[in-house]
Amino acid sequence: MIEQAILEITAELSQAKNIVIVPHKGPDGDAIGSSLGLMHFLRDKGHKVNVIAPNDYPRFLKWLPGNDDVIIYEKEKTNAENLINNADLVFALDFNHLDRSGDMQEILTASEAVFIMIDHHREPSDFANYTYSDAEMSSTCEMVYHFIEKLRAVPKITPEIATCLYVGIMTDTGSFRFSATSAETHRVIADLIDKGAVNHKIHNNVFDTFNEDRLQLLGTALQNLRVKPQFKTAYISITQEELDKHNFQKGDTEGFVNYGLAIENVVFAVIFIENKQEGIIKISFRSKGDFNVNEFARAHFEGGGHNNAAGGKSELSMENTIAKFNTILPDYKELQQ
Ligand code: 5GP
Ligand code: MN
Repeated sequence: MIEQAILEITAELSQAKNIVIVPHKGPDGDAIGSSLGLMHFLRDKGHKVNVIAPNDYPRFLKWLPGNDDVIIYEKEKTNAENLINNADLVFALDFNHLDRSGDMQEILTASEAVFIMIDHHREPSDFANYTYSDAEMSSTCEMVYHFIEKLRAVPKITPEIATCLYVGIMTDTGSFRFSATSAETHRVIADLIDKGAVNHKIHNNVFDTFNEDRLQLLGTALQNLRVKPQFKTAYISITQEELDKHNFQKGDTEGFVNYGLAIENVVFAVIFIENKQEGIIKISFRSKGDFNVNEFARAHFEGGGHNNAAGGKSELSMENTIAKFNTILPDYKELQQ
């Protein structure tokens, strides 16, 4: 983001009364962490700020400072639409195409507010007046830290802001182990700890708050694991029936896909999760090294994301979705031993 844009944004911020912050649909730790971190920062500066999430998100994110103020669009449409219509500024965080805002797309498209996008996904669209896009960044939370830095306001980072930003960097980097984790990421994390993020409590709140059903569901997922050593690939499937049996709650399958990558020589891990209500199989793709799952998801499963983490969907049955996947695999010579 160039210096001129920062000057203009500083001017916008000196006037803006009403600000709305929007994370992507199916918000994850980075989307909610960046939205709440920025919310606290802007509120402390005296703005009226609301976070409006397109839909609900997992329980393991609901302890974040400011969580109770998040408005869920699906549940509070009228209130949310009034806030968007009255907004001077809208921040779009952790997504770069308006269709990732789900049912909010229409109202956001119609809005006359000034839009600022902060995001680390590839191939950004240009819907915003100001675009801060960097696909090399570990997370949108790391970018919000740098955004605050560009505004020369790092000393204004409170423990609440530090906690929220820490969460998103931690979740989007798989606890600082994915390749997008840079030395700079660690410097930002160190500063967030200095500013009051209590790292061991944050890890505990996000990762060690399973209930028994969720751990049993993980057991089922691991029973369903299939390994294709000839393609350095492992995949898991979970049917709606299996979800129901374990009283599935939003977020319960988060992180399950990564278990495939724990197998030696596996570089491509996939999870297929049936959603009977939406009539789709939701798919998550993860990889290690050069295998590009963003391209794979785009080419075959109506999705996208990053080089090493992407998502997509299929409208076929579980059986046919997996059959399709197995048919495609041999086309990828880089996966062969
Ligand atoms: P997850 O597998 O955790 O749902 O998503 C992994 C990454 O891929 C996230 O950065 C998410 O934003 C992105 N992603 C997930 N599903 C989709 C999708 O359907 N379309 C696009 N473009 N990106 C997705
Ligand atoms: Mn992210």
